[in-house]
Amino acid sequence: AVVYVQLLIDPLDRLLGWLDELQVGTASLARLLGVAADEPPVAAAAARPDGTRIEVRDVHFAYVPGREVLHGIDLTLEPGERLAIVGPSGAGKSTLGRLLAGVHEPTGGTITVGGTPLRDLPLDQLRAEVALVSQEHHVFIGSVSDNVAMVRPDAGAERVRSALAAVDALDWALALPDGLATTVGAGGHPLSAAQAQQIALARLVLAGPHTLVLDEATSLLDPRAARDLERSLAAVLHGRTVVAIAHRLFSAHDADRVAVVEDGRITELGSHDELVAANGPYASLWRSWHGERTPEDTDEPLADT
Ligand code: ATP
Repeated sequence: AVVYVQLLIDPLDRLLGWLDELQVGTASLARLLGVAADEPPVAAAAARPDGTRIEVRDVHFAYVPGREVLHGIDLTLEPGERLAIVGPSGAGKSTLGRLLAGVHEPTGGTITVGGTPLRDLPLDQLRAEVALVSQEHHVFIGSVSDNVAMVRPDAGAERVRSALAAVDALDWALALPDGLATTVGAGGHPLSAAQAQQIALARLVLAGPHTLVLDEATSLLDPRAARDLERSLAAVLHGRTVVAIAHRLFSAHDADRVAVVEDGRITELGSHDELVAANGPYASLWRSWHGERTPEDTDEPLADT
């Protein structure tokens, strides 16, 4: 069963959403709203010859002055590493994800990529480095093509088609009433939640960032749609650094390492096996997710907590 979800919003709503969310840092807002004219070609952005390490050093963050939600995060992400971030609701997982993606700037400490603070990267380089995939705001009013090409307006029809094909979306998109010219977004042709997500993923394929931060990208989907999307996502994740926040389709045990965030701090960091053996907070979380299941079932997407 396909769940139809109203993911379709107009650009003004999106802008207002951003303004609402970005209570700090007009620099961040400017970055999100700007469109880079001369981004590197996809191949250049996707290739990672020597790799770029992301270093998070004593990062603090407050949305509202005096009310800190992250209290000194230290973390090093090696190129190509897959890190899962888990922890209780409100612990600061999404906030950390947004900082890693350059949406917000730390109020203390630094995040560097290849030694350069994220805040010093021009927008085109920031976009080539890292992208945030969240469950909100995937589709804008416009054609399917425009929705994919918006990150690279000069991409051309062939690269848009390739990006859609890479995430298994080309066939259904071509079957829409006007094919790739069909208007989607608010008031346009309705899309399922999975289709909207695929459009967002095709956009990512075209943008080709080194690092992806996935924030609950499938939580609006039923398990079957989530599993279908996992295949699409695999094409996007390949060869990239991935930070997955409490993700159903990117099970923690598939990650190279897991970071447990509790009350704005990383309280555990290690491989799935190490943390299960340590029998701490992660082991409890894992048991609550998988307590009723057999070992063979652990390939299933994580249940909602
Ligand atoms: P969940 O798993 O429920 O999504 P989380 O671990 O991702 O939680 P965050 O969403 O990062 O947690 O929230 C951390 C803290 O920051 C919470 O206390 C939350 O209320 C607060 N917070 C989150 N977003 C904002 C915002 N835009 N403005 C002010 N406070 C916020």
